Amino acid sequence: MSAALLAGAPAAAALLAQARQRAGQLPHAPGLVMVRLGDDPASTSYVAGKDRKAQEMGLRSTVYALPDTTSQAEVLALIAALNVDPTVNGILVQLPLPPHLQPDPILNAIHPDKDVDGFHPVNVGRLWSGQPGLAPCTPLGVLALLRHYHPEVPGGLALAGRRAVVVGRSAVVGRPLAGLLLRENATVTVAHRQTADLGAVTREAEFLFVAAGQPWLITPEMVRPGAVVVDVGIHRLDREGRKPQLLGDVHPDVAQVARALTPVPGGVGPMTIAQLMLNTVHAAEVQQSSDHRLSGQLAPA
Ligand code: ADP
Repeated sequence: MSAALLAGAPAAAALLAQARQRAGQLPHAPGLVMVRLGDDPASTSYVAGKDRKAQEMGLRSTVYALPDTTSQAEVLALIAALNVDPTVNGILVQLPLPPHLQPDPILNAIHPDKDVDGFHPVNVGRLWSGQPGLAPCTPLGVLALLRHYHPEVPGGLALAGRRAVVVGRSAVVGRPLAGLLLRENATVTVAHRQTADLGAVTREAEFLFVAAGQPWLITPEMVRPGAVVVDVGIHRLDREGRKPQLLGDVHPDVAQVARALTPVPGGVGPMTIAQLMLNTVHAAEVQQSSDHRLSGQLAPA
């Protein structure tokens, strides 16, 4: 067997088209503000990529690139101002933060309805209690990818009633993905570093999601034949005299066992930014609705 490869680019393009169409129906272009602290090269390049995509989409995108020396109080004051700025619909603070800053109070200061990363505890609670809210972009992007390819892959990719295993329980990917899968009516197991006999657990999966941050953790014998495998990992391997190689958390030979597999690179990767655009549009839609004004939380009357 050779798995169907679920490439991210076409699915991301469809998501962006949807975001653009919905943004066009709003009275104002949705506003996204990204706050980046310090000069971490990876963060700089992620934020630049998101900013570029937002501009392409016609969103109002602003980047605050603040120096390493910015204090916790200064970051909190900026967020407080953005929370009540009616031109700002989405606020994202790029992680990781410089070591003198505490991420939790900063993330908790973002108004939950502008929290386009979906990391605020209120949004985590909304996700797990089944209430509408904003959820993290990578897990939402994973579900959008499956939805996109559902009509094309023999046997389909519907999750209801299926056994799903998530490897990894980070706040960014594993946990919220588990919550979303439950919402899709899958039967969900979460494996992590302490899981005994990981292979026995992953072999149970009809849908296997891997976000463990471990290159090639999942090998073919750990995968049930005919499973759908989604690889959220990405690792750069530099070897002397060779060009850098990108590896996932799943060994490429898994394609011989699985019925569908996301490639690395080019699988889940493009979905995250596309979903951020959709989250921003969604936040703007909610904020402009009349119901939202009733909550009276955002703008002063
Ligand atoms: P990500 O950002 O992709 O979610 P993190 O490094 O934040 O990655 O989290 C890694 C997660 O993967 C943790 O929850 C950890 O328990 C899990 N994990 C790491 N190594 C293994 C392993 N060998 N087996 C199972 N789970 C693992």
